[in-house]
Amino acid sequence: MEQKQFKAESKRLLEMMINSIYTHKEIFLRELISNASDAIDKLYFKSLTDTSVGMSRDDFEIFIDADKDAKTLTIRDNGIGMTKEELENNLGTIAQSGSLAFKTNNELGEDSQIIGQFGVGFYSAFMVAKEVTVRSKAFGSDEAFEWKSEGVDGYTIDSCDKPDHGTEIILALKDDTDDEKYSKYLDQYQIQSLVKKYSDYIRFPIKTEVEHQHYDDEGNPTEMHKEIKTINSMVPLWKKNKSELKDDDYNSFYADKFGDYFPPAAHIHTHNEGVATYDALLFIPSKTPFDYYSKDFEKGLQLYSSGVMIMERCEDLLPDYFSFVKGLVDSEDLSLNISREMLQQDKQVKIIAKTLEKTIKNELSKMLKNEREKYEEFYSNFGLQFKFGIYQSYGANRDILKDLLLFNSSFGDKKTTLEEYVSRMKEGQEYIYYACGDSVKRIESLPAAELVKDKGYEMLYFTDEVDEFAIKVLIDYNGKKFKSITDSDLDLETPEEKEESKKQSEDSKDMFGFMKDALGDKVKEVRLSSRLKSAPVCLSSNGPLSLDMEKVLNSMPQNADKQVKAEKALEINGSHPIFSKLKSLYDSDKDMLAKYTKLLYNQALLIEGISIDDPVELSNMICDLMI
Ligand code: ADP
Repeated sequence: MEQKQFKAESKRLLEMMINSIYTHKEIFLRELISNASDAIDKLYFKSLTDTSVGMSRDDFEIFIDADKDAKTLTIRDNGIGMTKEELENNLGTIAQSGSLAFKTNNELGEDSQIIGQFGVGFYSAFMVAKEVTVRSKAFGSDEAFEWKSEGVDGYTIDSCDKPDHGTEIILALKDDTDDEKYSKYLDQYQIQSLVKKYSDYIRFPIKTEVEHQHYDDEGNPTEMHKEIKTINSMVPLWKKNKSELKDDDYNSFYADKFGDYFPPAAHIHTHNEGVATYDALLFIPSKTPFDYYSKDFEKGLQLYSSGVMIMERCEDLLPDYFSFVKGLVDSEDLSLNISREMLQQDKQVKIIAKTLEKTIKNELSKMLKNEREKYEEFYSNFGLQFKFGIYQSYGANRDILKDLLLFNSSFGDKKTTLEEYVSRMKEGQEYIYYACGDSVKRIESLPAAELVKDKGYEMLYFTDEVDEFAIKVLIDYNGKKFKSITDSDLDLETPEEKEESKKQSEDSKDMFGFMKDALGDKVKEVRLSSRLKSAPVCLSSNGPLSLDMEKVLNSMPQNADKQVKAEKALEINGSHPIFSKLKSLYDSDKDMLAKYTKLLYNQALLIEGISIDDPVELSNMICDLMI
């Protein structure tokens, strides 16, 4: 029989499973039961609309069989089963169970994070088994197949005899070692307690055979009595009373359903009645999924109709800015055989989505208010999405999102909300000031930042590229407009200072004109600065497009051949010694003035973090001045 190889990624995952990084090897049972339950769900769902299935709800079950002599543990279901191709595709390659993009960095820490994020699934069987056999017959097919593997060396697939549809997974347990007693998984009490712990809510009965020892009147053991027992309570977690549930119950449910190894940062369990009646169980992950900010990430909530899953991922239930939320909604208002297309139009779904949005927002606002540190941690994972949310909707979602935003600011090391910023605004302060740059440190050293700080105004520090774009569509916060410190009309001067600079500008009008000509169309204007304290020069933007927006837009690959240009002004500090130097050059050596102007312009670019058009020319110019 041909031995087939696992896909490379699967092989690596298998290796990790075998040399288990998990201290909780016992979760393999939860994973296999969960798969069995999904397979039954699929067939049960089919049976609701297709009478030819000929099965009712009570016919479905998951059976756990422990054979102490053979040292095998079998998990059997009568669900949808797998065809030969499905066995091959689903178990031969991991890519099937989610887009597992293994990073090149293969340190254990990193890998375990990735594993945690997509769930360990079927492969976890190899944590406890030296050989795994999967025997399966797809519903509607008359052939059954057996998949067998001892781990990384590959697997075999062969036809086999199996009368009924469904799947059985036979684990030949590893031999006991000093550290690990694999044989405990054959113990009926152990099995029952694991099922209770991890899989109690599974909607189909999980059965096993239990033995009772009978005793005679003298207390001597007589015959063994065997009976089939259903272990799980089968009530879905979300239908249970909140007061009966502990964080552990939610966490374990979350781990099982959503395959996240890390416990959630928060959960929301709500029951809603009224225009829409539903139960919802939502989770906020504590780590950013590795593909969260990529196009591969798929948002959505599971959708149930009266306890039956009708859609694995209903996108319409979540707005993009809350796409990190995982969970499910169960509503009796939805019809079972509603199609995907119809769902999108469904009024009920829209109402549920609207209500959920409010619930999520309230939960986050509460966290922000009462558990600031937790919120900041959450925000560092997913906050960027809020800014995209504001920007992409052209501000339509501003009211939902504006109070969830956090920014660094010149006030201190801690992040601030817009509300907090406004509460600290000085008397007579008209604007919410902000400055953009790659990092807080860089922003703090911006020439224009000095004066704003000097005047006692707080500045928001925009370090994410999307920040300024989001703020531009936000326009104002509760009536307070935003102003960039590189805006042409920053307006920080006192009336006397204004008068003084006006005069100085008038006096140097011709020189500025000359300097502007020396720079050609690189700048719109050269002028006296009203925003500089000790730095000699800076750039500011005249139009609606700021320097930082120009930087961001031009760095996007899709804009490679349609570069935008912010209207720039080169500003000179009138009280810096360079200014008198320029003036004297204007009278004595215009060629040199032209050179100086170019140098100053390039310096300003460097300070702003904008790349220099012609570094070689700049370098030659500096050298010329040195010799
Ligand atoms: P996941 O459950 O996250 O998709 P798994 O590795 O656990 O990943 O399983 C891979 C796939 O194998 C499942 O998506 C499913 O299609 C199939 N599968 C696993 N177990 C069963 C089963 N008992 N019956 C039918 N299909 C199964």
